[in-house]
Amino acid sequence: MAQELRFILDVHLGRLAKYLRLCGFDTLYSSHFSDPEIIEISVRDGRIVLTRDKLLLKDKRINRGYRIISQNHEEQMREVFEEFNLRNHLNLFCRCIRCNTPLEVVDKKDILHRIQANTTRYYSSFSRCPNCDRIYWDGSHYNNMKKFIAGITKRLE
Ligand SMILES: [Zn+2]
Repeated sequence: MAQELRFILDVHLGRLAKYLRLCGFDTLYSSHFSDPEIIEISVRDGRIVLTRDKLLLKDKRINRGYRIISQNHEEQMREVFEEFNLRNHLNLFCRCIRCNTPLEVVDKKDILHRIQANTTRYYSSFSRCPNCDRIYWDGSHYNNMKKFIAGITKRLE
């Protein structure tokens, strides 16, 4: 089930964290997490630990973890997609990439004052993060990300 695919990432995987959030996966990440914190949170929340550190995964308290091999973020995404069969659970652009909070759909007229006129002219669906207040819309980055994800899932076929 998709809701069981919740992650906590080691400190060097910030870029991967953003991509996983963008794909809709509940992903905790902080560049300040210590190893004991990562272990504690993974046990408490039932989160899968993703790390490049073999030693961290040796901790017996960790229920489920995966060691990321690559240092390249695109390859890292491919690894995680393959390991956890993520492509069946994709939900693009439903979660804030900055703070991991599920986004709320907002009415265009309610955010008009916050967005440049040429953006509101060309785009129609907007979402807002209720936690950090960031606004998202289906702009060019949306299409680029769709292509990026399609490229990853295609290579797994
Ligand atoms: Zn946010």
